[in-house]
Amino acid sequence: MHEMSLMESALTMVRTMAGERDIKSVREICLKVGELSNAMPDALTFAYDVLHRQKEFQVFSSCILRIEWEETRAECQLCGTIYQPDQKLLQCPSCHMPGGVITQGEDLQVLYFEGE
Ligand SMILES: [Zn+2]
Repeated sequence: MHEMSLMESALTMVRTMAGERDIKSVREICLKVGELSNAMPDALTFAYDVLHRQKEFQVFSSCILRIEWEETRAECQLCGTIYQPDQKLLQCPSCHMPGGVITQGEDLQVLYFEGE
């Protein structure tokens, strides 16, 4: 389950940033998870449940995780239409031009975190 290592990297990164801002306890983390990021929200939540209880991640012991799901969007290179692509077929619904460019849905990133 690669969500475990994704979550571990995310928590490690936030722990470092929290340390730099002198935050002793992180209250909330919000992750943006794109449809194409190959990470399942349920598996990420499970990984978080396991990891945030570990001693090395003590700064998250009373933290809640929020996940913001992001659908895929593509942009047509010919007419500029933004659309939700069907599977991997990136064909513009307006002018039927294939080869749209994915503009969102690929990211897995920490949107924000809060603490004190
Ligand atoms: Zn088009």
